[in-house]
Amino acid sequence: MTVITKSGMRKGGDFLIEETPAGEIFTPEEWNEEQKMIAQSCRDFLQMEVFPKLDKLDSMEYPDLMPSLLKKCGQLGLLGTSLPEKYGGFGMDFITNLLIDEAFGSGHSFIVSYAAHTGIGTTPILYFGTEEQKSRYLPDLASGKKLAAYCLTEPDAGSDARAGRTRARLDRDRKNYILSGQKMWITNGGFADILIVFAKIDDDEDLSAFIVESDAEGIYMNEEEKKMGIKGSSTRQIYFNDCRVPVRNQLGERGKGFKMALNILNIGRIKLAAATLGGAKLALRKSIQYAGDRKQFGKTIGSFGIIKHKLGSMAARLYATESALYRTGHQIEKNLHEILEDKPEDTAARMKAIGEFAVECAILKVHGSEMGDFMVDESVQIHGGMGFSADGPVERGYRDSRINRIFEGTNEINRMVIIDMLLKKAFQGHLDLMSSALQIQKELTSIPDTRQSRDQDFLSAEKDLLANLKKTTLMIAGAAVNKLMHRLKEEQEILMHLADMVIEIYVAESGLLRAEKNLYGEEKNTPQLTLARICLYHALEIVSRSAREAIYGFSEGDEQRMLLLGLKRFTRHEPFNLKEARREIAGLMLERKGYPAEDL
Ligand SMILES: Cc1cc2nc3c(=O)[nH]c(=O)nc-3n(C[C@H](O)[C@H](O)[C@H](O)COP(=O)(O)OP(=O)(O)OC[C@H]3O[C@@H](n4cnc5c(N)ncnc54)[C@H](O)[C@@H]3O)c2cc1C
Repeated sequence: MTVITKSGMRKGGDFLIEETPAGEIFTPEEWNEEQKMIAQSCRDFLQMEVFPKLDKLDSMEYPDLMPSLLKKCGQLGLLGTSLPEKYGGFGMDFITNLLIDEAFGSGHSFIVSYAAHTGIGTTPILYFGTEEQKSRYLPDLASGKKLAAYCLTEPDAGSDARAGRTRARLDRDRKNYILSGQKMWITNGGFADILIVFAKIDDDEDLSAFIVESDAEGIYMNEEEKKMGIKGSSTRQIYFNDCRVPVRNQLGERGKGFKMALNILNIGRIKLAAATLGGAKLALRKSIQYAGDRKQFGKTIGSFGIIKHKLGSMAARLYATESALYRTGHQIEKNLHEILEDKPEDTAARMKAIGEFAVECAILKVHGSEMGDFMVDESVQIHGGMGFSADGPVERGYRDSRINRIFEGTNEINRMVIIDMLLKKAFQGHLDLMSSALQIQKELTSIPDTRQSRDQDFLSAEKDLLANLKKTTLMIAGAAVNKLMHRLKEEQEILMHLADMVIEIYVAESGLLRAEKNLYGEEKNTPQLTLARICLYHALEIVSRSAREAIYGFSEGDEQRMLLLGLKRFTRHEPFNLKEARREIAGLMLERKGYPAEDL
C-alpha cells in the first residue's frame, strides 16, 4: 500500500502508515542566508520598536500605538511577505513566512495583531477575492496603509461558528447588502479599516463572507475587552446595524463562507504554532540565563537536578514542535509548488494544497500552544518569586501565552478535528488506515516475531519503538471504530486520547527524522539525538497512558484483554536514562547560554 502521489508527494496523515525517509524532510538547519536575514530583520524590529513599548501597549492608553507599529512594519515590507509582487508584496514562500511568524512570535501582543492582520485578515482576500478585490485591497494591506480584522465569532457562535446569526439581505436597488448582527472578540477591531465579516444571506443555513470597510455607516463598537494577557492587542465587539456593503464586496461564493473560514483556519493553525515557537524560545533563553545566574545554597540553581530536569524537558518539547513545524511547512510548500506549477492563480488548488495537511496543521496548533504554555509555566517556576513579579522578566509571557489554546479553534475542537479528518480520509479511500489496522489485528493473534525487523543501525531501536506506537494507535482506533461505529463521535474522551497519541507520534517522529538528517559522519551522540530521544520517550509515556484509558473506555472481556496484551507488546522498549539525557541537554544549554539545536 502506498500513499505517495505520482511525483513522490506525501499525503496528509500518511505518517501513521508510512515511514518517512529522513532525507525527505526540511530542517531548520537548512535556512539559507536570505531567510536568516529576514528573520533577523523581524527580531531587530521587535528589539527596537516593540520591546521598549510593551508597557505602553499593554496599558491600552495609547490606542494609536499598535496601528502605528503595524504601519511601520508595512513600510519595511514586513506585512506583505506572503503576498504576490503584483499586489505590492514580496511573494515569499510558505515556509519563509512561517519563519517570519516565529521571529515575531516573541512579540507579545504585537504578534497577535500582526497575525490577525497578515493572516486571517488579509488571506481571505488573497485566496478568495476576485481580481478586482485583490487589486483594490491587497496593495494597501501590504503597505500597512490599511489594517485588517477577521469577524467570525459571535456571542452565541464561538466553537460552533456556523451558528452565527449575523444576516445580510439585498437592498431594494440590489446594489448593496444590508448587514445586521453582532461580532465578538475581534482582534484589531479598534483600528482595522477592512473587516472580513461572515454572515448568512437571507434565510441561508450557511455563511457567506463580505469585505466591509469600517468607515461604513451602521458600525458600532464596545469598549476594548479587558483581558488576562495580550493586553496590548485590540479586542472589540462590533455591531452591524443595517450597515450597507456594496454587492461587489461579497467575498467568494454565496454559502461557501464556512468552508472558507475553515481553510483560513488551517493556515492560521500552523502559523500560530510558528508564533508559539518564537515565544517559547524567549522563555527558554530567559530561563537558561536565570538558572545560570541565580545562586541559592551557595550554588547556581542550574546546578540542581530538578532545574536541569526542567530545562532538559523544555528544550525537548520545543525541539519537537520546531521539527514538526518545518517538516509540515516544507510538505505544504512542495505540495503548493506541484499543484500550482501550471495554474499559479488557481486559489481552489492553493487551498487544496494546504488543506491536504489539515491534520498536521491541527496537530501543530495543539502541540505548539501546549508546548508554549509548558515553557512559560516552567519559566515562571525557575524564576521563583521573580517569576511571579509583574516587574520580572517572564510574567507577561506567562499571561500572553494562555490565549493560544483558545483561539484558532480551541484545543478541544482541534483534537476532535484531527481524528475526524483522519477517519474521513480513511472512509473516503484517501488514506488506507483500515488495511493497516486489520494487519495489526492479525499480528496480534499471531506469535510475536522476536527477530530483528530491520538492519541494526544505531537508530533501529528508536524506529522500531516509533513504528510500534503507530501500531498501538491504529489498533485502538480500528477497534473503537469497529465497536462503536457512528457512536464513536459521541465518545469524545476516546477521540481525545486517540488525538493525543497521534500528536505525540507525529512530533516525536519529526524530531527523530531531524536528528537523523543532521547526524554528521561518525558523530552519533549529538545533542539533537538526545533531544529526539527525550521526545520519543515522552511520546511513549503519553501513548501508553492514553491507550490504556481508551481501552478501558470502550472495551471489555476478551476484547479488552487482547487490546491490553497488544499495548504491552507494542510499548515494550529498551530502558533509556532520561535523567542523564535531560542533564546533558541542560548542561549544554547552561554552558552555551542557548538552545542546543541552534544559536539563539
Ligand atoms: C483574545 C481573543 C481574540 C480573538 N480574536 C478573534 C478574531 O479576531 N476573530 C474571531 O472571529 N474570533 C476571535 N476570537 C474568538 C475565538 O476564536 C473563540 O473564543 C474560540 O473559537 C472559542 O469560542 P468561545 O469563546 O465561544 O468558546 P466556546 O465555544 O463557548 O467553548 C467553551 C469551552 O467548551 C469547549 N467546547 C465547545 N464546543 C465543544 C465541543 N463540540 N466538544 C468539546 N468541547 C467543546 C471549548 O473547547 C471550550 O473549552 C478571539 C478570542 C479571544 C479570547
